[in-house]
Amino acid sequence: MSTQASAMLDTATGVSDLRSLRVDGKRLWDSLMRLAQIGATPKGGVCRLALTELDGLGRDFFIAEAKAIGCTIRVDAIGNIFARRAGRDETLPPVMTGSHIDTQPTGGKFDGNYGVLAGLEVLRTLADAGVRTQAPLEVAVWTNEEGSRFVPVMMGSGAFIGEFALDDVLKQTDRDGISVGDALRGIGYDGGEEVGGRPVGAYFEAHIEQGPVLEANDTVIGVVTGALGQRWYDVVLTGMEAHAGPTPMALRRDALLAASELVGAVNRIALEHRPHGRGTVGCLSVHPDSRNVIPGKVTMTVDMRAPDDAVLGAMDAALRETGAAIAQRTGVDIAISQVVYFPPQPFEPRLVNAVRDGAASLGLSAMDVVSGAGHDAVYLARVAPTAMIFVPCKDGISHNEIEDARPEHLEAGANVLLHAMLDAAR
Ligand SMILES: [Zn+2]
Repeated sequence: MSTQASAMLDTATGVSDLRSLRVDGKRLWDSLMRLAQIGATPKGGVCRLALTELDGLGRDFFIAEAKAIGCTIRVDAIGNIFARRAGRDETLPPVMTGSHIDTQPTGGKFDGNYGVLAGLEVLRTLADAGVRTQAPLEVAVWTNEEGSRFVPVMMGSGAFIGEFALDDVLKQTDRDGISVGDALRGIGYDGGEEVGGRPVGAYFEAHIEQGPVLEANDTVIGVVTGALGQRWYDVVLTGMEAHAGPTPMALRRDALLAASELVGAVNRIALEHRPHGRGTVGCLSVHPDSRNVIPGKVTMTVDMRAPDDAVLGAMDAALRETGAAIAQRTGVDIAISQVVYFPPQPFEPRLVNAVRDGAASLGLSAMDVVSGAGHDAVYLARVAPTAMIFVPCKDGISHNEIEDARPEHLEAGANVLLHAMLDAAR
C-alpha cells in the first residue's frame, strides 16, 4: 500500500488495506427497493415526477439515510441536495457523485436512483470501516433531470454549472401553470444555499446503461469515455394540397412523399457514420391529414448524435444537402432549423482511467462505451473532471416500468465507484 493511501486511513480504526473494502450489495438493493416504493406503479415501475409530493418523500428518504451516517445536508435554491461526509482537509474541493431521483411518468426503479443510492452506499461503506478520506465526499441529488414535468431537462445540474440562470428556471411552469419556484416551496426544498459557484474536485456518476451494448457483450462495467454531441432540428415541408383523384402524379407537390425521403436519408446518414452516429425522426405530423387530400404540409423532428463535433458537423451538412436535393426533385419547400445543440463531451482521461483500473482490480469485465443519452454528468463535465460508470440493464430498456437490473451488477458498479472515489479523494 502506498503512503498516499495510508494517509487516508483513520489510524484509530486500524483499517489496513483500502483495496479490500467492498460495498454491501444487499443494503444497496434494499435501499433501491425502498425508494422504489415511493411512487410505485402497479406494473412494477415508478412514477415520481420532479417536485411532486412523492419527489419530496423520496428526497426525505435520502436525507434521513445520509444523516444516519453522519452526513451534513445542504439544499440549494434550485433544490439540489448535497450530502457531505467531511474529509481530513475541509479546504479541499469535494469529490462528488450523484444523479437524480425524479422519474418519467412510466419510469423504472433504477434510472438515476441507482447513481444516488450507489453514492450513499459508498459513504455508508466508508462510515462502517471508519475511513476518513483526505478530500470531503459529497452525494448530489440533482433536481429535475428528466424534464418530464418541467423543461429544460437536467435543470438542477445545468443551473449548478451556470448553464441556466436561476430566475429563469424558477419561472418555468408545468401544464397546470405551477412554477418550479412554487413547486419547490410546496415540498419544502427551496433551499438557502447558493446554486453552484464552488469548485468540485471530481465528479463521478454511476448509471444503468439504458442501452443494450453491455448486455450484448456480456460485460459488467461500461467505462464511459464521453457523451455524444446532439443536434435537434425542426423541419417544415411545404408542398401543395390537392385532390387525391383528379391530380396526376407528375403534377403533385406531395409534402409527405418528400418527408418520407428525408426520413430515409436521416437513417442513411447515421449509418454512414458508424459505429456511434445516430439519426432519428421521432415526431411527424401531416396536414391536413385527410384521406383524399395530397398532404400540403408536414412538420417533423430530427435528432442526430455523434461523439465528435467534426462528425456531427458532417452529418448536419449531409442532412441539409439531402434536404435541398429532395426539395429540388419534388418541388416541396424544406426548411430545416436547428433548435438544440449539445456539444460532444469527452470525460476526463485521468478519471476514466480510475474507473477502468477500478474494474480491473476488482476482477470485473469492462469495456469502453459512449453515453448516447444526456446525464447530469455531461453538465458537470464542463466545470469539473468527470467520469461515468455504466452497468447493464435488462434488454437495454429504460424509461419504462419494466426497467430491470441485476443486483450483482449494481453491486459491482458501486464497488468501482467506491474505489474510483477513494482514488480521487487522496
Ligand atoms: Zn437518468
